[in-house]
Amino acid sequence: MITIQEIIDIIKEDRPNADVAIIKQAYEFAAMAHAGQKRLSGDDYIQHPLATAKKLVQLKMDVPTIAAGLLHDVPEETDYTLEDIKKQFGKEITKLVEGITKIGTLKYRGVERYAENLRKMFLAMSDDIRTIIIKFADRLHNLETLEYNRPDKRRRIALETLEIYAPLANRLGMGEIKGQLEDLSFVYAYPKEYEWVQTSSKNRLKVEKKYIEKIKKTLQKEMLENEIPFVSIHGRIKHIYSLYKKLLDKDKDINKIYDLIAIRVITQNVADCYKVLGLIHRQWVPLKGRIKDYIAQPKPNGYQSIHTTVFAERGKIVEFQIRDQEMHELAEFGVAAHWHYAEIKTKKLSKEKTIWLNQLMDIQKKVADNIEYLSNIKLDVFQSRIFVFTPKGDVIDLPENATPVDFAYHIHTDIGDKCIGAIVNENMVSLSSELKSGDVVEILINKSRKNPNQDWLNFVKTNLAREKIKYSLKKSSDYKSRKL
Ligand code: MN
Repeated sequence: MITIQEIIDIIKEDRPNADVAIIKQAYEFAAMAHAGQKRLSGDDYIQHPLATAKKLVQLKMDVPTIAAGLLHDVPEETDYTLEDIKKQFGKEITKLVEGITKIGTLKYRGVERYAENLRKMFLAMSDDIRTIIIKFADRLHNLETLEYNRPDKRRRIALETLEIYAPLANRLGMGEIKGQLEDLSFVYAYPKEYEWVQTSSKNRLKVEKKYIEKIKKTLQKEMLENEIPFVSIHGRIKHIYSLYKKLLDKDKDINKIYDLIAIRVITQNVADCYKVLGLIHRQWVPLKGRIKDYIAQPKPNGYQSIHTTVFAERGKIVEFQIRDQEMHELAEFGVAAHWHYAEIKTKKLSKEKTIWLNQLMDIQKKVADNIEYLSNIKLDVFQSRIFVFTPKGDVIDLPENATPVDFAYHIHTDIGDKCIGAIVNENMVSLSSELKSGDVVEILINKSRKNPNQDWLNFVKTNLAREKIKYSLKKSSDYKSRKL
């Protein structure tokens, strides 16, 4: 059981001056709102917001984000509304909670071609990166307690995590969160494959753990003797899902994987990283072509570390990763300029999309510079686009202020030409009303209608709709004049 005191204690540890009163207040409000509710696990519901908040504290998120984490399920799951939250907690926290509630309405329908759209929309709808990070924390706890769900629901949530959440975390440079999301989902999404990786790595892991422990001790002793201070030396075990993917690349042969356990050395500064490298190479023979200095030459995504692979005792191959504290935090948790990299390299991108990515890269750089406090970082790049749904859940990407007529023509010319009305979020609206991200739009048509209305040209926002309306009007007037 997690308590609010536990959470406050962790915050106080590294931020003694943090204003925790608001966090207590958010807890009390959430506990009152969820009173009597239970999770499927049988726990009191409040354990879920508490678990979410605890993860946010561990990520060193700011106070409003932690408070929003405690309140995140109130509007969806209780009788209290966003208005109630606003009265007590003000605009900033309410906006964060609202963002999470909006994302909650997105449903994964297992159609691959929409996965990318959904990811984009996910970003667009949370115009504050902190919203996504709360969503990650929320999802992590849901995955941890997924066993209490029905099997079909388990699988859906696991697949959704692998296809939407994990790639997003990866793109935001949150390596550790990505690894956790994948590992927790893997067993439910692909149980047989999970079983296979488990069995094939189990013995090697057992042997290797002991061995790595010895190597670690040797290095530790050397470092003390040479008076090189360090933050930590630890064996990092490869995440099981990423091991699975690597195995698929390596003929499914576990013996071809050299970094099942790598030794990670975290130093206090850059100069010490090189001292450690020297020490390691004096102690063991490095493998040719396996020394990578990503400190002097960071990966294009900003990743920094020195990697080297050596023949250690008894000729065994061991990989070392050396970096300082700051580089380490960035690689694990940073909303680093990371995620666009693979895409830029592998896909030809339209100019528009490249600009979009560059802007995002800029934003992420700023975030990386100020990793502890992500406040006020907005994804402005998305503000000129909106993403709306068809009643079936397909995503349509439109410019800001687009109308139901624009939407109709984006679906099909015939739907546009024959449209007579629109239902947005279950309410009848005028054809000229402006759509917002997240709207579910249904177009009413009259099959016998022949032509679009000329007046539509006064309010449509997309060229596509404008051109199609003109074309249909011209076609019908040509037809009429021929008849005359
Ligand atoms: Mn939740």
